[in-house]
Amino acid sequence: MHKITLIPGDGVGPEITEAAKRVLEATGVSFEWDIQNAGEEVYKQEGTPLPDRVLESIRKNKIALKGPITTPVGSGFRSVNVLLRQTLDLYCCLRPCKSYAGAKTRYKNIDLIIVRENTEDLYAGIEYQKGSEGAKSIIESIRRINGKTIRVDSGISIKPISVYATERIVRFAFEYAKKNKRHKVTAVHKANIMKYSDGLFLEVAREVAKKYSDIEFEDKIVDNMCMQLVQKPGLYDVLVLPNLYGDIVSDLAAGLIGGLGLAPGANIGDEFAVFEATHGSAPKYRGLNKVNPMAMVLSGIMMLRHIGEITAAEKLNNALASIIKVGKSVTYDMKPTPDDPTAATTSDVADAIIKKIS
Ligand code: NAD
Repeated sequence: MHKITLIPGDGVGPEITEAAKRVLEATGVSFEWDIQNAGEEVYKQEGTPLPDRVLESIRKNKIALKGPITTPVGSGFRSVNVLLRQTLDLYCCLRPCKSYAGAKTRYKNIDLIIVRENTEDLYAGIEYQKGSEGAKSIIESIRRINGKTIRVDSGISIKPISVYATERIVRFAFEYAKKNKRHKVTAVHKANIMKYSDGLFLEVAREVAKKYSDIEFEDKIVDNMCMQLVQKPGLYDVLVLPNLYGDIVSDLAAGLIGGLGLAPGANIGDEFAVFEATHGSAPKYRGLNKVNPMAMVLSGIMMLRHIGEITAAEKLNNALASIIKVGKSVTYDMKPTPDDPTAATTSDVADAIIKKIS
């Protein structure tokens, strides 16, 4: 019996987590789900979108399966997703992007692993609102220290990148490569412009790479990386990136394998792991039983592997792969056109997978 914290999330979260829960149970593995709500509704009821009970549950169970949670744009509460990753020190966001036969993709046989640093960079949450005392003080300090002028009507976000966090994320990428017989790690950065943050990331990555001489190492500037991924994705294997580039490049890579509906993810630390799709809460589809649950199911497959249920993971992966290959019981995003009348619903997809497993 595996005790797992289940966070349905908001927007389309509850629909896709329910679908993932059903297919995971259909593998025959026993789960005891500790259901913990978080997000927009919880904020209205409990005054915080991430109550302590959610964190306590994950600390107790060590593993969580999580639906997406909305972050208000520009104002309101800060991202629950970022807070969760920082509070539990889930320093690695692991996002495999693998194409399945039958999915609508520009290229065949894409198999990329994105290793995104999850705790610092511009996501550190150190920000100063335009005109605030903090912003004024920083503008004044920078003028005093190096004579540079920042306009007084500027908002400021700070981008810290440390040796500590870079070492452990790059080590994670190499250890992953070693364990999974991958041949190359590419560090992605903008060290030509941000010499002391991205420059540090690159310098530390080069140092760590020396300890893994049997795995090829290279680096790419992030803008070039985006172009290369669109034109020649087959040249790349494991990518390791600071937080912001990791976020953006993950969605680009998801686009290469057929869209966000197929891109899973895991937030992993030394003690805890939270499995969730790359995509967000897609609020406009909320409650319509319409979106693709496969990214969430694939995140569940990553979770099965993490908890040692390898046979169940393979069984579920094979069932999912065959549904994609046949192309009948798939949602609108995987049909030739989005308005295809034969598109399956979220729950239809779960039913089809369950039928295939049993
Ligand atoms: P989104 O990923 O929610 O959706 C973008 C578009 O991608 C959707 O409109 C839809 O067309 C498509 N899409 C997403 N998931 C799909 C699925 N399962 N099946 C089919 N199509 C799918 O991105 P957004 O609109 O930028 O973000 C919405 C909210 O989600 C925001 O509040 C954002 O902050 C939040 N978010 C949360 C997480 C998380 O919980 N980890 C991650 C990203 C975004």
